Amino acid sequence: MSEVKAYGAADPKADLKQINIERREVKPRDVKIKITYCGVCHSDIHTVRNDWGNSKYPVVPGHEIIGEVLEVGSEVSNFKVGQTVGVGCMVDSCRECEPCKHDLEQFCEEGMVGTYNGKDKHLGGHTFGGYSEEIIVDHYYVLSVPDNLDTKAVAPLLCAGITTFSPLNHWKVSKGDKVGVIGLGGLGHMGIKFAHAMGAHVVMITTSPEKAEDAKRLGADEVLISKDKDAMKKHQGSFDFLLNTVPVGHDINPYLQLLKIDSTMCMVGAIEPLPDVHGGNLIMGRKNVAGSLIGGIKETQEMLDFCGKHDVVSDIELIDINTINEAYERVVDGDVKYRFVIDMESLRNAN
Ligand code: NAP
Ligand code: ZN
Ligand code: ZN
Repeated sequence: MSEVKAYGAADPKADLKQINIERREVKPRDVKIKITYCGVCHSDIHTVRNDWGNSKYPVVPGHEIIGEVLEVGSEVSNFKVGQTVGVGCMVDSCRECEPCKHDLEQFCEEGMVGTYNGKDKHLGGHTFGGYSEEIIVDHYYVLSVPDNLDTKAVAPLLCAGITTFSPLNHWKVSKGDKVGVIGLGGLGHMGIKFAHAMGAHVVMITTSPEKAEDAKRLGADEVLISKDKDAMKKHQGSFDFLLNTVPVGHDINPYLQLLKIDSTMCMVGAIEPLPDVHGGNLIMGRKNVAGSLIGGIKETQEMLDFCGKHDVVSDIELIDINTINEAYERVVDGDVKYRFVIDMESLRNAN
């Protein structure tokens, strides 16, 4: 085992601060990674603050990891020392159940092992994520990063990217479809970029009129202010697909009215109760409400390759790790364009 520096929270009310954690020795299937950048996902904040009631402390968040390979185990042939790689939201799964066999490890019947707050099969206790100097991961869960992309702006693709790419891919969004992305935050801005790259007519649906210009710059063809009832009415029954990234429980009825017959709204943001849904909003028009969780490893690699081909990365604000607590407040206030990424040199340089 080796000790590395990390940033973690001791309890739901505590700020994140520097701590030391243990990493396992490199095993035959493992890749040891020096973390260079780590994105800040709203899920990190939910976990630190125990919003989902299942957090284990200390929490060391971070599942948008970019790094450089330091060492590979004896059975690893697909990664080499010095290569830039990524690690997303999971670091293990059973690999034998039906979902795992079908490249849907995120739905593993034994439970996927989260990059943080998961059950550590090697050291016992729980897993620690990317707000740390190094991580050791089974090579199966390590991703190759296309070399034409700016690596710090690739970090958020490992969660925000795959979480939005996967539903757009699954529901086969294609050229000419009218697609609405609800909520312009970390996930939403990637939703716009992907839907645009897939050839859709993209409508940004936002509560924040001041984000309109940005939404267009990111690839939206139109902006719809969800609080504007007249504008919402004009778009009624016209969408082929809606991707809802709102991070909290909210009234989805007004959005359901935007869907065409037989079309779907996929929820990715609110992992908590939603207030009453009016049955009429589903029955009238045979509409669907669905959900989606990140994406499997194969699809995550496909997403990264798609980004390499279409030159898609995140819009980021690079921060030092000692400003992480302020960054969290800004994410909660919706004041980030559109993803914070931590420069991990700032942790290596800390005393
Ligand atoms: P974020 O950066 O905070 O963005 C969320 C956006 O939603 C905000 O910028 C805001 O956009 C809108 N919004 C916020 N509160 C709202 C409200 N009460 N009503 C309507 N709109 C509201 O968050 P994120 O990092 O994109 O993450 C979004 C959620 O996805 C989080 O809950 C996270 O835990 C979850 N998540 C899920 C998965 C998955 O696999 N399903 C993966 C990663 C993250 P506007 O100003 O444009 O309205
Ligand atoms: Zn995330
Ligand atoms: Zn499994």
